[in-house]
Amino acid sequence: MANQKPLLSMRNITKTYKSGEVETQVLYGVDLDVYAGDFIALMGPSGSGKSTLMHIMGFLDRPSSGQYIFKDREVSGLSDDDLARLRGHEVGFVFQAFHLLPRLTVTENVMMPLIYAEVPEIERRRRAIEALTSVGLGERLDFYPSQLSGGQKQRVAIARALVTDPSIIFADEPTGNLDSKSSDQVLDILRDLNKEGRTIVMVTHELDSAAVAKKTVRMKDGLVA
Ligand code: ADP
Repeated sequence: MANQKPLLSMRNITKTYKSGEVETQVLYGVDLDVYAGDFIALMGPSGSGKSTLMHIMGFLDRPSSGQYIFKDREVSGLSDDDLARLRGHEVGFVFQAFHLLPRLTVTENVMMPLIYAEVPEIERRRRAIEALTSVGLGERLDFYPSQLSGGQKQRVAIARALVTDPSIIFADEPTGNLDSKSSDQVLDILRDLNKEGRTIVMVTHELDSAAVAKKTVRMKDGLVA
């Protein structure tokens, strides 16, 4: 790894939220490198800034200051459109609360990110089915989210994160809403994806979950400890 360049590199990243007169500083100068093939567990107490940092890494939000290099490109000052494009092509997200669309079938949910990527419908469906099969849901293609268990919902969300073939997957407490058996299944899938070469950053406060990652990064009071 020593002479390999990072996939993403953050230096002295700060974030201050402003609402009206009130300013809340959340990140105080984070330095972090993520390499292709990493599987990082991002840990730390509640309120330490993990989700904020992950949202910045995943182009859902911008830093207030600092340098963020993604694939050799400075991305901290990009326009909303450029950030949306990066988000659509380079990253996949998995959230604690799944965020599936209830009126769409499992397959249609997984096809969604490919609409933004302007992939033709037949190809969207083919790739969605392939992603769902890879997470063990090939038999549930026409189900609706309400007909699935929590663990199955999270596997749909993982398929949706994978379907654009992103450079990196961000998972924010992916097992936070799951029983231990479903958690293990989800963690097994993430571990397998990493073995296949996927880069993963996972926010978690559970030691069991962190144990599947290859590295742990700890945050405290808005800094990487
Ligand atoms: P963690 O993921 O480690 O629990 P977060 O990044 O979610 O930490 O939050 C860190 C701090 O930032 C918390 O004190 C939270 O209240 C604050 N915060 C997060 N989002 C916002 C926001 N949009 N506006 C104001 N404060 C926020």
